[in-house]
Amino acid sequence: MKVIKMLGVGALAAVVAISSGCSKKPEQEKPALDAKAAAQKYDKIREEMKALYLVQSILGWYVRTNGERSVFEETYKGRESLFSKENVEFFNEYMKMEGLNADDRRAAKYMRNALLAEFVAIDTAHFYDKVNDAEASATVKLEWVGDPVPYRQLDSMKANETDPERRRALQEAEALVWKESLNPILAKEEERIQELAVEIGYKSFVELSEEYREINLKEFMAETQKFFDETDEMYGELFAAEVQEVMGFPAEKFTRADILYFAAVPAFQKYFPAELTIPAFESLISGMGIDLKTIAGTEITIDDEIREKKNPRAACFSISVPDDIRVTVKPSGGIPDFETFFHEGGHALHYANTNLDKWEFQQLGNNAVTEGYAIFMENIWGDYEWLLKYREIVREHNKTLPASKRVPVMSDAEIGKLIRNRVLWKMYMVRRYNWAKLIYETLLHGGGAEYFGPYYDGPENDPHQAYRRIFSKAYGFELTENEALRFRTDVDSFFYAADYARAFLLSEQIEEKLRKDFGPQWFNDPRAGEFVKKQLWALGNKPSSEDISKAVGAPDLNYDIFTSRIREQLAIADRLMGKK
Ligand SMILES: [Zn+2]
Repeated sequence: MKVIKMLGVGALAAVVAISSGCSKKPEQEKPALDAKAAAQKYDKIREEMKALYLVQSILGWYVRTNGERSVFEETYKGRESLFSKENVEFFNEYMKMEGLNADDRRAAKYMRNALLAEFVAIDTAHFYDKVNDAEASATVKLEWVGDPVPYRQLDSMKANETDPERRRALQEAEALVWKESLNPILAKEEERIQELAVEIGYKSFVELSEEYREINLKEFMAETQKFFDETDEMYGELFAAEVQEVMGFPAEKFTRADILYFAAVPAFQKYFPAELTIPAFESLISGMGIDLKTIAGTEITIDDEIREKKNPRAACFSISVPDDIRVTVKPSGGIPDFETFFHEGGHALHYANTNLDKWEFQQLGNNAVTEGYAIFMENIWGDYEWLLKYREIVREHNKTLPASKRVPVMSDAEIGKLIRNRVLWKMYMVRRYNWAKLIYETLLHGGGAEYFGPYYDGPENDPHQAYRRIFSKAYGFELTENEALRFRTDVDSFFYAADYARAFLLSEQIEEKLRKDFGPQWFNDPRAGEFVKKQLWALGNKPSSEDISKAVGAPDLNYDIFTSRIREQLAIADRLMGKK
């Protein structure tokens, strides 16, 4: 789901801080930065980062699309002074300089944040490599397979395995790799990132991440709890109904080993053949009066070639904004695959239409907003009016095919079932990211009870048990001890979860605005395309998620529109399924 920006090995981060160690001195005692020298230093650092990021993103592209050797570690050689504490502090001072306008100050903050992330990334890159090597070399023994099976194949095997017993065996095998190979490395990394956060002037890694992501976690978590309480019963009923529908057994028998198979919605595979993935996307955007041209006049590259070593999961690379934007995809069909492509397409359109010259606003900043645009595109697969349009796309497509090759057409009742299924997954993701992950990761990263205290009353020093309890509650089914061993691998760098969390809400606010202004078939109205292009995407990474909420007429980033929309979707689904 993540836009691959390749901003370095780890991820990103931020700070507000003064250097650690010595006590705070009155600011006057520090010599003020000489404006001219400071501007020169700023430019130099930016030029070096720009060059490095360009090399890294092109490298990332070839790793992803061709299975090229990953040599990110080498790109960092000799860069220790670029990503130093001293440079982080330089930007802390720079941001306070007089005479900067709001944009300059914001750009400087994005620079500081990126440097801070790299400061942590350089120090911990060797853990990343170790995890990578351990994952790549780990194999497991499975009773029904002759040769040892690579660890990295287990997830796709689980997603395709029809036998529940075998899914559980796959899950057990995976958990053993976590326990014995990956978790010990990740435990050391966790210790180190917490030390580094303190070293660079923060109370905790949680506080550092909050600054980087520009989020007040305590407030956000309190809002989320209200949503959780209000809709918990509804989620429980929906989950039970969907497990019965998709899996054919009652919810009480459901385990985490089933989740990938459940998510694949196998019965719907036939309606979403691989060859329609890209045409469906083109049909969506052409209705909005948009095409795959960047505002620089180039085309967004879509690499859908089949190569043996290509990573099958779609991803977007904003190599140079706005002129060199690439999407890689290896379509395999099915609803999750369609959604992933639309998601990455949303990122691509955002960067291809970014109309700002400042590199900081093209490439840096946090990802809450771009994830919002991506999820907005992805979510269209739960929209009734769009599914009707897709049915027409399929009918048109079938006219060109012999009877034996035609794609099945969904009935109204099936469209209803699909909408209900998509609502479940929207709720599942919000419960997982906005609720469970934020609570759990504030505990894991040593934020203290001031963050997770109101939501979790178990032991603080046992992340395995905390993970088990928190995620069991979020999912609505119990995780076993073994399944909860995922407590170290299921962690996103620098609270990326906080960006997804806001994106889930923002995407609904954007859609609501389009529905209100241009009607339920807004995707057939070029004015809708004009609006997102000029009023939203053009701003690149500069705006915060709150800025975008305001731009679409929502008072702030809250759960109101998300909640009313899922209720509305469920009512439509019930009607189509003949329930009401
Ligand atoms: Zn994304």
